Amino acid sequence: MNKKIEKVSGTIAALATARGASGIAVTRVSGLKAKEIYREITKKNPEHMIAKHTVFYGEGETRIDSGIALFFKGPDSYTGEDVIELSSHGSSAVIEMLLERIYSLGGREAEPGEFTKRAYLNDKMDLTQAEAVADLIESVSARTAAAASRSLVGEFSDRVNDTSAAVSEVRALVEATLDFSDQDLEETKHPNHLLQKTKEAKNSLKILIEQTRTGIRLRNGIVMAIVGKPNVGKSSLFNRICGSERAIVSSEAGTTRDIISENITVDGFPIRILDTAGVRDSQNQIEQEGVKRAIEASESADIVLEVIDSREWCQKNTEDKNVLILNKADLLTEKLKIEAHKAFLLSAKTGDGIDKLLDHIAGLFMDEDSCSSSITARKRHLKSIKDAYRKFCSAEKGIKGGEALDLVAQELLEAQNSLAEITGEFTTEDLLEEIFKSFCIGK
Ligand code: GDP
Repeated sequence: MNKKIEKVSGTIAALATARGASGIAVTRVSGLKAKEIYREITKKNPEHMIAKHTVFYGEGETRIDSGIALFFKGPDSYTGEDVIELSSHGSSAVIEMLLERIYSLGGREAEPGEFTKRAYLNDKMDLTQAEAVADLIESVSARTAAAASRSLVGEFSDRVNDTSAAVSEVRALVEATLDFSDQDLEETKHPNHLLQKTKEAKNSLKILIEQTRTGIRLRNGIVMAIVGKPNVGKSSLFNRICGSERAIVSSEAGTTRDIISENITVDGFPIRILDTAGVRDSQNQIEQEGVKRAIEASESADIVLEVIDSREWCQKNTEDKNVLILNKADLLTEKLKIEAHKAFLLSAKTGDGIDKLLDHIAGLFMDEDSCSSSITARKRHLKSIKDAYRKFCSAEKGIKGGEALDLVAQELLEAQNSLAEITGEFTTEDLLEEIFKSFCIGK
């Protein structure tokens, strides 16, 4: 069932490149009047994918600028409609005049993400690909950009569609059993075949959940909090990892009160790193608040770097998501035996041991194998896949328990519909609004 909402109206225009003075700026136009606008502005005939060096004319013979005009004949364009791209000099005055001219010729200002929304509505891409356009534009790390590119060319959609096909196969078997239960049909003679296919589809859903979780981490980054007692070297470690003197380092305990955060990339992975107040009992109200925030940060972080002074270490292990840091290694007078413990001996002061820690953190994101095939994903994708998984598990229970097969078939259909929400095959206007409003104008 295709529930795309058809709401394409007017010829839209916007600056496609970033605002501000630049060497070149690209103004994009899409819609029925694009061809006509091209003719009026360039006084030339548009030809599909032929770049023409031209004057951009205002009203009559007035000249706005000169540059390159490109025409894409729909459906062979980004939006699927006739599109023109005018590369002019990147002056805000020139852009303003060009856009005004386009509006006077029947164009209107594009809404945020409207070019990509049209591409989606005209079947040039599905919803996950449209979202990947935004992910790619916003990506700040090489890994995220590579993953967004994979989603953009449809790798994530393919995985969702493959999983949906596996669920569909189970549903077809269940429905065949329903329709032909009194006949000697091949499938109905082999319940083992149904069980095998059920197992395969469930496995496919489980893998998809894991890949989506990784995709969300790659898109959003992870949060890593540095915690520990006062004066163990948390701020020094924070600065060392950020590569700048962002946090105040002092031998006086209780200097960091509020949480300091910085966005960094480690081996191409996006991370938000937090320096927190030293955890200790204090009578000072501000420090108490700092300690409270530190505890909250460590509870909600994906990774916690638990820093202790290596001279005070007593062979303790730590919680699962915590990485134990034994700092001030340069002050040790005798060697520590830490092999059996999940701990990193380092010196935030000299930098010794930091690289090993960073390698370990990058490895926590994913292994090298899954790295080369990772995609970007969003929470809404995970929610839909989890919904599909829940419905599928309920159907599986029905199949194994011999429940009414029409109910089982219905649950399998609902599982498929949940998956179809991801690619936008089955969607609502509200969801589209939500997705495209986060885009910039011109995308
Ligand atoms: P925080 O209170 O845990 O954030 O600790 P700071 O980073 O402010 O450091 C407290 C004191 O320990 C400062 O005087 C730092 O210079 C010192 N310090 C931090 N890390 C090291 C280290 O690895 N070696 C040595 N020798 N001193 C360190």
